[in-house]
Amino acid sequence: MARYTGPVCRLCRREGMKLYLKGERCLGPKCPIVKRSPQRNFPPGQHGQKRTRRPSEHGLQLREKQKIRRFYGIMERQFRKHFAEAARQGGVTGENLLRILEMRLDNVVYRLGFADSRAQARQIVRHGHFWVNGRKTDVPSYQTRPGDVIEVRPQSRDKEYFKVVAEVLNSRRVPEWLLMTPNEMSGRVVNPPARDQIDIPSVNEQLVVEFYSR
Ligand code: SF4
Repeated sequence: MARYTGPVCRLCRREGMKLYLKGERCLGPKCPIVKRSPQRNFPPGQHGQKRTRRPSEHGLQLREKQKIRRFYGIMERQFRKHFAEAARQGGVTGENLLRILEMRLDNVVYRLGFADSRAQARQIVRHGHFWVNGRKTDVPSYQTRPGDVIEVRPQSRDKEYFKVVAEVLNSRRVPEWLLMTPNEMSGRVVNPPARDQIDIPSVNEQLVVEFYSR
């Protein structure tokens, strides 16, 4: 299973905005997007400081697609699959896409507060620490459904990581479309998130639809 292993702050710098890829650290003063002066907040790489031209229509669509893809930490091939599924569902494709991304198991684990970042959530899912409806599920892209119960596997609760998590679960903010029961180390998907319940930095998902419809 492929995943991006390079420096993640670079991705935020490329998109010119915080994508919150490093958990707690993103909220502190060490975040390069905050720390750098506006003059030094240019995209990374050899050509980052070149005089910026007005981006083409395709350039804008590409940036929007990359922003969403990187925010959820997904590689291109899988992102395309999610888009194809979103287009197949009917209704507003852009909203379908965001909903599909939100309801991935790794994202739900992150939103429930079991991990500091989506990358961490992906890892703990992959390592088999979670049950969905009482069955071990270690596929980060698993699509959760309303009513699904996601819980930490009983054997994993004694691990140091989950002992620390258990202490902070109460203080974590959980979106309205999820229900958390901290003392049982479990959560439930109440309903699919509406567009305004999806907490994502300003993105225009319609541009992604246009990008793939070329
Ligand atoms: Fe790095 Fe997080 Fe800041 Fe992005 S938001 S630049 S990942 S610290």
